[in-house]
Parts: sequence; structure tokens; C-alpha cells
Amino acid sequence: MIFDTEINEIIKEEFKRQNENLEMIASENFTFPEVMMATGSILTNKYAEGYPSKRYYGGCEIVDKAEVLAIERCKKLFNCNYANVQPHSGSQANQGAYAALLNPGDIILGMDLSAGGHLTHGSKVNASGKVYTSYSYGVDENGYLNYDEIEKIALEVKPKLIVCGASAYARIIDFERFRKIADKVGAFLLADIAHIAGLVVANLHPSPFPHAHIVTSTTHKTLRGPRGGIIMTNDEELAKKINSAIFPNLQGGPLMHIIAAKAVGFKYNLDESWKTYANQVIKNCKVLADELLKEGFKLVSGGTDNHLLLMDFSNCEFSGKDAQIALEKAGITANKNSVPNEKRSPFITSGLRLGTAALSARGMKEEEMKVIAQTISLVLKNLNNDEIIKKAKETTLKLSENFPLYKDLKC
Ligand code: PLP
Repeated sequence: MIFDTEINEIIKEEFKRQNENLEMIASENFTFPEVMMATGSILTNKYAEGYPSKRYYGGCEIVDKAEVLAIERCKKLFNCNYANVQPHSGSQANQGAYAALLNPGDIILGMDLSAGGHLTHGSKVNASGKVYTSYSYGVDENGYLNYDEIEKIALEVKPKLIVCGASAYARIIDFERFRKIADKVGAFLLADIAHIAGLVVANLHPSPFPHAHIVTSTTHKTLRGPRGGIIMTNDEELAKKINSAIFPNLQGGPLMHIIAAKAVGFKYNLDESWKTYANQVIKNCKVLADELLKEGFKLVSGGTDNHLLLMDFSNCEFSGKDAQIALEKAGITANKNSVPNEKRSPFITSGLRLGTAALSARGMKEEEMKVIAQTISLVLKNLNNDEIIKKAKETTLKLSENFPLYKDLKC
């Protein structure tokens, strides 16, 4: 046996980093130990190209059971008829959904990246904006989706597909209204709920079903499962197209260990306790938003309905990048983010995205959010004061120690 001291050290170092810092990147979470056990299991050894009972290799009868379980739990969770649990990531789930619905050159309409959309929703630097002819919609001056404006753009560009869903949008998405727009222009509707899936399954955000023709998601953000993607629909014909768009069109062998881990994650999502967690994520985010507003900061849309918020430094001398760097020194991990009508470059930005899913997974509640908001405020008002940043680091370290991560886990 070769003991890899280098990688072992790296894992230990990362374990320490995750334990000692406050993780506020809105797309991250701390998954369950049982999910990690499945991802580290011998299921990684098995090739299983195809779908349950229709594989290209022998010896798949047992992994078939894992995939069937993942599919059944996914369908139950999202209350839909068909699920494909094979996409390796959220991006590949979207790519698969597009391949099922579109031909190269077809027109898609998605949310602009700088307004809070995702790269895969038609950005020109992504395959979705290269293979398809992409147009985008943004948010209004208050930071909200303006459905009349989206309808106007849709009538103009006549998309074959409208994509809704976002990476940095703090408000409820009206899927029903999106479907009305799609129907008016004869388009398909795809809802990418990668960010809000964990809230949707707890009935804390309206479901994209029955409105969207196809729903995609990641499993590792608010759902708190393993890193991966899923695609769902209620339409039998579309389900067949989705399956062949993923395999053999896009992917080869499915990651059976990850599919098993998705099933484990879904079991947690289906449990009664899930609602309590998801509810706490939102409560925490609202408190964080309220406290930051009290401290005089501006938030895009003026607050939040979900697990994230977007601070707006457009009128500040410092940028999103400055804020990210200073907070990192104080033990708070977050990411700079463009804001609507961004004036700075995407490498600098005027925003900071903060999320509460990971801290809530550690057991933090409203009281801790108040301390964190005050610490963020202190750091941002004293960006160049090393003494104050050092004090802030002591506060975040103490919080981290009070809510240790993976208490019984040795790495
Ligand atoms: N869709 C949305 C809305 C996202 O925010 C993301 C990731 O941030 C993705 C898709 C892509 O997921 P992945 O990073 O797994 O490819």
C-alpha cells in the first residue's frame, strides 16, 4: 500500500480551513458523513454505461438498485414523473437538457450572468452561448425580475427555450409567470433550481413543477448532497430525449458512487428534519440581511427571500474584490460578485454574495448571524486596519470553535 502523505496533508489542511473559517459562499454546503461514505465507496469501481436494466456491461444488477433508488427518491422529493440522476454536474445537466430540446443555432433566452444568471444560461464564453444563439434578460432598477420586460424580450427574440433560475438572485422566482411567457411565444421552459432546490423540496420556495417542461439542479448546494447534477420532467417523450442526451450523447460511464450518494442525500431531504434545516437557512439569511441593512449597507433588491443575499458596493470606494480579501483575512469566506448594471470588471466587481446554507448546516442560528453581520460590517468599514481585522478573526474563530464541523470524523 502506498500512503500518500502529500494528499493526506492537503486533506487535513483543508479540513482545518473548513473548520476554522465561516463558509458563506452561497453555492457551498457541508454534506452529510453518510454521503461522503458513499462517495468514497467501492461503487466507484463499476462501469455501468446505459440505464438500469439496459446496460452495456455485465455485473450491473447491484448498482442498478442504487440508481433505481436514487431515481425513485428524486421523483418523490420533487413530485415529478421522470428523473435522470446521471449528470456529473449542474453544467452537464443543463447541457443535457439543451441537447434534448434544441438543435445548434436555436435561440435561447436566459438570465444575464451579471444580473445573477449562470454561465450555462447562454453566456457567450460558455458552450450554451456558442452552440446556441443566446439572448438575455436582467433585473429592474430595484433588483427584481421584471416579467413584463422579459415577456417583451421574448416576443422580440422568439426563443425556442426560456431558461429561468439563477446563481445570485435573492428573491422568489415566479415559475408560473415564466410559463405563461413561454406559452405566449411557443417556447419550452427550463427551470434551473440549482441554488434553491433545498428550499423547494421543503416547500419554502414555490416548485417549478408543473410549470417548467424540464427542471435541472445540482445536488450539492442547498440540497446538501454530493457534488452532481439531476434532470427532471413530467413528460414521457422529453424524458426519453433527456436520457439519450446524457448517455450516449454527453457522458460515458455514470459515477455510480455519486449516484448512490445522491440517493443518500435525497433520503435526508425526504426526512421530516429537512424542513427545520431549510427553514433555518432562510431565517438566518433574513437576519443577516436585516443586520447588514441596519449597519447602512445596500443590498440588491433590498433584502432576501432565500438562502443568499447580494451586497452592493456600487457607491463605495472599495470593490467586491477588496471586501472578499479583507473578509478572508477575518476568517469569513465569500465571493465577489457582479451586481446589476455593474461598472467594475468581472475580476473586481461591486458586489459580494453571501449565503447561509453552510453555516446553518453547522448549527448556527439567528444570534450567530447577528454577530457575523456585525463582524462583516466592522471589517468592511475598516478595510485597511489590521488590528481590527485581527480582532474580527478572533471572533470568527471563536464562533467556529463553538460549532465544530464533523465532530466525530477523523481524516
Ligand atoms: N446552475 C446554476 C444556477 C448554478 O448556480 C450552478 C453553479 O454554480 C450551475 C448551474 C452549475 O453547476 P456545476 O458547478 O455543478 O456545474
